[in-house]
Amino acid sequence: MAVKRDEPPPPRDGAHDGLHDDTRLAHAGRDSAAWHGFVNPPVYHASTVLSPTVSDLLNRTQPYIYGRRGTPTTDALERAVTSLEGGAGAVLCPSGLSACTLALLSCLKPGDHLLMTASVYGPVRHACEGVLARLGVETTWYDGSTPVAAAFRPNTRALYVEVPGSYTFDMHDIPALVRLAHTHGALVLADNSWATPLFFQPHAFGIDLSIQAGTKYLVGHSDAMLGMVSANARAWPALKQLHGDLGLCAGPDDVYLALRGLRTLGVRLRQHQRNALAVASWLATRAEVQRVLYPALPGDAGHALWRRDFRGASGLFSIVLQPAPAHAIDAFLDHLALFGLGYSWGGYESLALPFELDAHGLAARWPAGSCGVRLHIGLEDADDLIADLAAGLDRYAACASIAACEDAARC
Ligand SMILES: *Cc1c(COP(=O)(O)O)cnc(C)c1O
Repeated sequence: MAVKRDEPPPPRDGAHDGLHDDTRLAHAGRDSAAWHGFVNPPVYHASTVLSPTVSDLLNRTQPYIYGRRGTPTTDALERAVTSLEGGAGAVLCPSGLSACTLALLSCLKPGDHLLMTASVYGPVRHACEGVLARLGVETTWYDGSTPVAAAFRPNTRALYVEVPGSYTFDMHDIPALVRLAHTHGALVLADNSWATPLFFQPHAFGIDLSIQAGTKYLVGHSDAMLGMVSANARAWPALKQLHGDLGLCAGPDDVYLALRGLRTLGVRLRQHQRNALAVASWLATRAEVQRVLYPALPGDAGHALWRRDFRGASGLFSIVLQPAPAHAIDAFLDHLALFGLGYSWGGYESLALPFELDAHGLAARWPAGSCGVRLHIGLEDADDLIADLAAGLDRYAACASIAACEDAARC
């Protein structure tokens, strides 16, 4: 199922090589001549770099000076990410969350004001209420219903978007937010973990700092934690400086796994998208499902924005189930054969995660007893995934109808 677009995607900022994404994924960051001809870089496990003479040591004549400051392995991934993002530079972090907080700290100081999307990834919300508040940074939360323009203050220094939002998958009008923020002199940060730079290009839309939880689709195999931040020329010096000051670096094996995952990102994402569209379209026909929250589905509230700004959709979305007794969700999820129960997403395998609607500002929209389930659609065969979910929803419906009978008997 190919996703059709009305218009060609906007040109990339800083990309002058004229290559297409899949070609770039295969070649970006490689330097085989420096790696003795090998296709892939060596994995440098490193702290100390030895210098041949005192003069070399003091004058820093060598390309590398210390493990924390970069190795040929980390350089390869940074170059690849910079090429994909089309930014001025990129840094690697030990997790996606550290990439989010680094990006925020790089553009905020005491007394500043931050505009933050209400559907942001939970631990980032916690960081706003914790470390940022402690540093004297005040956060105002916005969502699709807030007139964001009125929320800017003279000290607003940053606006943070996550598209689509965690759990709710709500979309924002990014070009409008970027215009507003830049008019007010604020930088714009985007958590682009869901789409990756393959399906959404933050810098091409004027976003200053583009964040990815590399743990998710870039690594793609649920076997490493990593984050990255890419910056345009305006945001790069402060980002690079703070990354160095905080001493952030990522483990060499994890960096290698991300580099390896990146080479197949295109084929994997297209398959995640194909499967997710098939499963989501089918779920939308089931009586147990009140709503599928997936901007790639026609009829989703964010579909028009998604079509306008994105080149594709990944495999993560939510459903809201009809009200049922609490144990119905256990009956549904406990016995799924192909969906694992767990946090994170972006690996090759399918996952399910129940969530409370009222924790995400969604309660008012749904009748009491409604339950949310986030699904990550992996690379399995879509028909097998649908059969697994069909059996699960039958179990859910059986619990709901038994409860209805019991209620009727009591009356
Ligand atoms: C998982 C996630 C993160 C954090 O990534 P970790 O590598 O788990 O720290 C950040 N943003 C979003 C949207 C995520 O889903």
